[in-house]
Amino acid sequence: MTSHIFRRQNPVRILNSYTAFWIYPQPGNQFILPCGIPYMDSKRRCGWGFENGDELYIRYHDAEWGVPVHDDKKLFEVLVLQSTQAGLSWYIVLHKRDSYRNAFDGFSPKKVARYDARKVGALLENRGIIRNRLKIEAAVNNAKHFLEVQKEFGSFDSYIWRFVPNGRPIRNRWTTVRQAPARTRESDAMSADLKRRGFKFVGATICYAYMQATGMVNDHITSCFRYREV
Ligand SMILES: [Zn+2]
Repeated sequence: MTSHIFRRQNPVRILNSYTAFWIYPQPGNQFILPCGIPYMDSKRRCGWGFENGDELYIRYHDAEWGVPVHDDKKLFEVLVLQSTQAGLSWYIVLHKRDSYRNAFDGFSPKKVARYDARKVGALLENRGIIRNRLKIEAAVNNAKHFLEVQKEFGSFDSYIWRFVPNGRPIRNRWTTVRQAPARTRESDAMSADLKRRGFKFVGATICYAYMQATGMVNDHITSCFRYREV
């Protein structure tokens, strides 16, 4: 190691410059640049999976994860991506998000609900997305039920937020990422209701990940700079 330690007020610029080469030996605050120089990020983050210093992943954590979502299109996007994630890492799915956006008509539930067997066949040929027939068919199936829920409740937003008390985010107080559960009473109830309505790939752990991603729960650890911001 070397004695050159940089402190910057705006780590985003650094993230843009050195992305592909970073490692993240101490979750939340220290990077080693490719030349071997440590760089201290002034911000503490949840210690999940930043070891490869992936810019997209860090940005997702810093800007999206845990932020309450009330926009139906975004809620559908997260539903498609979380149900696709089953058995895979979020990292893999996140890196395919742009391809998914292109392949699935900008995550329009109306358009996806109309996909026929030929369109599903074409999606199975698309190397930009996870080419799993069950998951692709689940996305189409879920789009149909998504529209039904919108019709019944006025919006998917007003339906899905019923699964947290008073429709408000649940604010947890974890000090390490390992303390966050894989499922809760609320995610079990959400999963059961979605299944009853015909949704697929909506098990309790997928539902809990959905709640975390859409800010229905705040699972940033208390020392993470996003804990108080979301
Ligand atoms: Zn965090």
